[in-house]
Amino acid sequence: VIAIHGLHKAYGSLEVLKGVDLTAPRGHVISLIGSSGSGKSTLLRCCNLLEDSQQGEILFEGEAVRWKGEGLNRHPADRAQVTRIRTNLSMVFQQFNLWSHMTILQNVMEAPVTVLRRDPVEVEAKAREYLAKVGIADKADAWPAMLSGGQQQRAAIARALCMEPRALLFDEPTSALDPELEQEVVRVIKALAEEGRTMILVTHDMKLAADCSDHVIFLHQGLIEEQGPPAAMFKAPQTARLRGFLSATS
Ligand code: ATP
Ligand code: MG
Repeated sequence: VIAIHGLHKAYGSLEVLKGVDLTAPRGHVISLIGSSGSGKSTLLRCCNLLEDSQQGEILFEGEAVRWKGEGLNRHPADRAQVTRIRTNLSMVFQQFNLWSHMTILQNVMEAPVTVLRRDPVEVEAKAREYLAKVGIADKADAWPAMLSGGQQQRAAIARALCMEPRALLFDEPTSALDPELEQEVVRVIKALAEEGRTMILVTHDMKLAADCSDHVIFLHQGLIEEQGPPAAMFKAPQTARLRGFLSATS
């Protein structure tokens, strides 16, 4: 679904990604792990063009992003393409970012109705289906502030699903939650992985990465230090840096 080749990204003189490759084939779950500041969120945000990048190729469903300009002046050339990619790669953030002035149902319906211009009656039926799927069908008419953190995050996941995207991008979806609430979100993510959804998951939760990924990427200072299937990565890390990282996080 997504492929990235040789991606470079800098904020001014700070080089954050120094030539990263990433492929997320249909139905696969890719986890991104690494220390704070290693570039995980930046890479995720580059995937759906929330961030510009200076060099390298990004392909969505085999279609290369078209750029104008070079280096720091590089921007996507085609707005319609950006919208197509962004609406097909739905992002779930650490802070759930629900709209506080809308009910949960309205939050889930908003983008499909206003961005994709889908029929509100059909979208409502879908929205209720996704709320049921994440286990909060009874919260449709509640306001975000009335929900626990775990419920709010599950609402944010339902909102992403309601776009019916080709892939879901998660940036630390459980790290703002208390441990008990974390598990209810972990269960939803694992169920989505089992369904064969394409996902890229940035996480500090090594157990979650081990349990649901097809492929794990360990980033260190903007470069891939080590990658592979979770069994190998977690049981037999090859690099001293990954060994150090895993022993520090367990
Ligand atoms: P964490 O685990 O703490 O979320 P991360 O791996 O997601 O870390 P990034 O958020 O991708 O790391 O940040 C990588 C580097 O880029 C950091 O040094 C950060 O300070 C810098 N950075 C991130 N966003 C910006 C920005 N908008 N402007 C300038 N520098 C930024
Ligand atoms: Mg981050």
